[in-house]
Amino acid sequence: MEAAGHIELTASDKSLALEMRGIRKTFPGVIALDGVSLGVSKGEVHILLGENGAGKSTLMKILSGAYQKDSGEILVNGRETEIRNPKHARELGISIIYQELNLVPHLSAAENIFLGREPSSLLGLVDHKKMYEASGEILRSLGVDFDPRCLVKELSVAEQQMVEIAKAVSLDAGILIMDEPTSALTEKEITELFARIRKLKSDGVSIIYISHRMEELFEIGDRVTVLRDGKLVGTREISDVSKPELIRMMVNRELTQQFPKVTAARGKEVLRVEGLSRDDAVHDINFSLHEGEVLGIAGLLGSGRSELARVIFGLDKPKSGRIYVKGRLTRIASPRQAINLGIGFLTEDRKTEGLVLPLSVQENICLPSVERFSRMGVVQVAEEQEATARYLKELRIKATGPRQRVIFLSGGNGFGGWR
Ligand code: ADP
Ligand code: MG
Repeated sequence: MEAAGHIELTASDKSLALEMRGIRKTFPGVIALDGVSLGVSKGEVHILLGENGAGKSTLMKILSGAYQKDSGEILVNGRETEIRNPKHARELGISIIYQELNLVPHLSAAENIFLGREPSSLLGLVDHKKMYEASGEILRSLGVDFDPRCLVKELSVAEQQMVEIAKAVSLDAGILIMDEPTSALTEKEITELFARIRKLKSDGVSIIYISHRMEELFEIGDRVTVLRDGKLVGTREISDVSKPELIRMMVNRELTQQFPKVTAARGKEVLRVEGLSRDDAVHDINFSLHEGEVLGIAGLLGSGRSELARVIFGLDKPKSGRIYVKGRLTRIASPRQAINLGIGFLTEDRKTEGLVLPLSVQENICLPSVERFSRMGVVQVAEEQEATARYLKELRIKATGPRQRVIFLSGGNGFGGWR
């Protein structure tokens, strides 16, 4: 534990919106939280930082009533409280906005904001007029200008997030938890989100903000608490901590660069794309990729980056154009063909597209190459086990073992490292 900047929480401090003291939480085979403490002041943006599997989401799930702690104390506005369930947390003024937003797509923004608490008329019916008025007012106070009658499924991710924030405001949340809120936003939307966070702050709302994007911590945060392997490393003022220092607190080793550059010889061409088009999403794309190269594809949300990847991986049909793999003109009509050609695809939406959540780590790793692990139609379990053990180690996947179900892994494991 770091001595400097570590906040000792002793007598209850009334100016704190929240105190979590010595929180411990275990899952079979894992100590997710080992005596973690966190103090959040009123009107503060408090950043929660740590590598994948550090325990951030678990701590927040305890605070929002989704999980029960094994031991430790929680004080809300100076009062010791047992948070029984998510409904109880909301009654205590604690709202959480998950990374995967939690809205009902075919209901309107207003219906989502007031879900389960719809204002009713004298006859006991839902008072739609009142609901739309109240929603419109909250959205306007947040500086948002879409119609609360819009269906959520027709809104952008940024707008959907605003619906979640409006919901928290309507619940009179004093503590708002945001789990990686900017991961699907454009630069412009991030700027707008930050303006809204500052507004909430000036209204006295305390915000706990989970992120691993260093730049944004310095822009929006007041203090930062770092967790590592389920333990508290320390709490610091953002104004007197540096980026390398935070990285060191997170990973417990000196890293001069966040993404150290490795020199690799630029080898032969492995992929070439010529005049590739798909419907209205992808137009006349040309590039070539060599061995040992990282090729970035930049563009805003909706500019066709994912669509391009889908065509190359055989998920969508191209309208025109040619794809050469290792110099050979190829038609990739299915993901199976793409995999056989040695192409892998990590989707941006791992939960719905990339992983089979109820299956184990081992099954997920080996599924795409099940043929490689089969002899005459029989899966060679020992080989699968060996390969899985190797990948767990090489990619530093935080799992209790090959049998752990993917649904219980922490967020970043689908990517194999913190970004
Ligand atoms: P973070 O959000 O910092 O990435 P998490 O809180 O998700 O980390 O995970 C902390 C640890 O607890 C990890 O080792 C993770 O695998 C484990 N864990 C989290 N939730 C569960 C669960 N429901 N069952 C079993 N293990 C879990
Ligand atoms: Mg997490």
